[in-house]
Parts: sequence; structure tokens; C-alpha cells
Amino acid sequence: MTTRIETIGILGGGQLGRMLTLEAKRMGYRVVTLEPLPNSPCGQVADEQIVAAYDDLRAIGELGARSDVVTYEFENIPLESVRALEAERRLVRPSGDVLRITQDRLLEKTFVRDDAGCEVAPFAAVDDAASLARAIDAIGFPAVIKTARGGYDGKGQWVVRDRADADAALAAARGAATIYERFVPFDLEVSVICARGTDGTIVSFPVTENQHDHGVLATTIVPARVPAAVAARAKQMAERIGAALEIVGAYCIEFFVKDGELFVNEIAPRVHNSGHYSLDATQISQYEAHVRAICDLPLVEPKLFEPAVMVNILGAGTGDHLAGAESLLRDPDVKLHVYGKRHAALRRKMAHFTVLGETVEEALSKAERGRGLLSWESDSLSITR
Ligand code: AMP
Repeated sequence: MTTRIETIGILGGGQLGRMLTLEAKRMGYRVVTLEPLPNSPCGQVADEQIVAAYDDLRAIGELGARSDVVTYEFENIPLESVRALEAERRLVRPSGDVLRITQDRLLEKTFVRDDAGCEVAPFAAVDDAASLARAIDAIGFPAVIKTARGGYDGKGQWVVRDRADADAALAAARGAATIYERFVPFDLEVSVICARGTDGTIVSFPVTENQHDHGVLATTIVPARVPAAVAARAKQMAERIGAALEIVGAYCIEFFVKDGELFVNEIAPRVHNSGHYSLDATQISQYEAHVRAICDLPLVEPKLFEPAVMVNILGAGTGDHLAGAESLLRDPDVKLHVYGKRHAALRRKMAHFTVLGETVEEALSKAERGRGLLSWESDSLSITR
């Protein structure tokens, strides 16, 4: 028997939750979000926002009581909160078991390698001088040391080229469990978004190519500029991981590509920044796919209308007014999405645009032109000279 789902609860109130909510509302669902900051990007468009900390179990219980299914838009919520909902027999999708693995890079990499049988860069657990010495012996330099838990957008990670770097990184991690991973001098990074339903059906979106700036996604190019065989293998691996995890919902697998070889870097058990383009370039978005998966609706294969490029519009710390949008919007192939955040702090994700083209090259050149038109200006005339 399936539960009749009318209200979706979302843990987290950022832009992913906002776009998920807009799609869920279009499909006729009510949405309640729980997020510590009032007037969040998601809260602005949801039916209700519960303003509370993610570890406030009373508030979490309230979210569960008001929702028919609870999901999350980022993976750093306390596992205990999801476990508490599950203990009350609330439907949480993806489940706490999935969250437990994907919250911890060591569990995640071990799962990908041993349970899903996919290639990852050689890695080892490091939490003190002795385990560091063993990891250096086994894996060598250069390497990347990452905190096992809590990192995102390149935070909590250090590229290390020698023993001194590695000692400094371990000291900076301040006793936290870390993963020591071989540095992959990749040619490019790609990702695949899939959605898996309760019946085990998996659909996958086109493989995207992702370019980062200071660890933050800057540009997504779709389809990725890789040979068809590499793209097919990336999809296959992504589907294998989803099946092994028994995840319900949308998820993203990030890969490094080196000489045609694929190494899994990360699993995001949620909708993902590299899937924003799907709102405008595929007939079903990653957000709709997630809603369908968690609400027991049929999943269909995504179809790409045209090559597309998504440009993240990051804050610059120079002001909160996005200048140049008027020029950007003259291009009929551009779709602009703004998240409703007040302050454009340095590298904060504020908005994005997607542009379609007949070829990837055309979409890319339009995207670069568009990016060049935008800047952040101060609202206040008094401080401009
Ligand atoms: P992550 O938080 O693991 O997704 O890492 C953020 C970014 O750091 C990745 O997108 C890569 O650009 C870079 N990175 C992480 N791990 C490695 C690695 N083993 N080799 C090379 N670059 C890496």
C-alpha cells in the first residue's frame, strides 16, 4: 500500500529547496521547510517554514507531523534528526541509511569501491601521525587530505605535496577524522544525476561537465565533452551506485575523468547544483524527478532539448545589486534564476542562468558573454565615489 502524499517536508531552506519547492508546487503539492534562518530562499516560496535548528528534535517532530514525506536538500543535517523521524515511522526519502553513508567520506568511498564496485582514487583513513605516515607510504604525493565529515564546496580540504604540507593539514583538521586521497590530475570533472523510485526504477540525466572556481561550481556544460563510451560508463556507474544504495530520490555522482578513466569523487544524496540546467534544457527537471521519486509517481527518461550551459552567479562581496541583468535578458536563449538572498557575500551562490545553443560551443560562447555582462554593485549611492 502506498501513502497518499499531499505535503512534502524539506530539511534545509537554500536554493535547492527553493527550486524543488517551485516544482513541487507546480505539481500540486504543499511544502513545509525547516531551516534556522527566517525568510530563507525556500521558505519564501514554501507554504510554511518552521524556523528552527536542524538538531531541534521537537521542531523536527513538528515537520514530520505536518508532512507525508520528508526529504532534504543538503546532507549535513544531523543523522539523529532523520533517525528520530524514522523512529516515529515518518517516511524519509532518501533514508537515514543513505544519509549515514554519504555524510562520511570514508564510509562513502568504501561503499563505492566495495559495495558498488566502482573505481575511486586510492584512499586511507587518517586521524593521527601514525596513520598519516602509513597513508603517505601507501599512497604517496601529491594527495588531498579532506575532513571525513562536514566539508562542502572545497571547505575542509588541503592539497599536500610533501610531508610538511601533510603535517600542517593534519594540524588544521584539529583531530577530526580525515581521508587521505591520491591527487587525481584529472582532465575534467563530470557528474550524472539520477533518480531512483521505490520500485527500483532508475533514470539518468545527461552527463554534465563541471568547472569549479576555488572549489565552488562555476559552470556546467551539457552534454559533457567526453567520448560517448565514457558518458555511457559514467551513467552505468551512477546507476550501479544508486541501486547498491537503494536510494529513493534524486542523487548526483561526481567523477574525475583522466585519460578516459572514471574515478568516483562524491555522492550527493539530493538534487545538485550541476542539475540546475535541467529546469530549462530537459523536459523533466531533476527537481521534478525527485518529487516523482519520493511521491511514488512514474519516472521517465530525461530528454535534452539542446546543448546547454549553466553559469553560477556568485557574490563578489562588492555589493548586493546584480547589475547587467537587463543586458543578459536580451538573449532569448537565456533563463535567469534568482534565489532571493539579501547579501551577495564573496562566492555565495546568489543566482544562476542557463543558456541553450545549437552546439555546446555556441552555448558556451553565449554563456561567457552573459557572465561578462554581470557585476555586483552597492545599492548605496553614499559610498560610491
Ligand atoms: P570535493 O569536496 O571532494 O567534491 O572536492 C572539491 C573539489 O576539489 C573537486 O571538485 C576537485 O576539483 C578537487 N578535488 C577533490 N579531491 C581531489 C583529488 N583526489 N584529486 C584532485 N582534485 C580533487
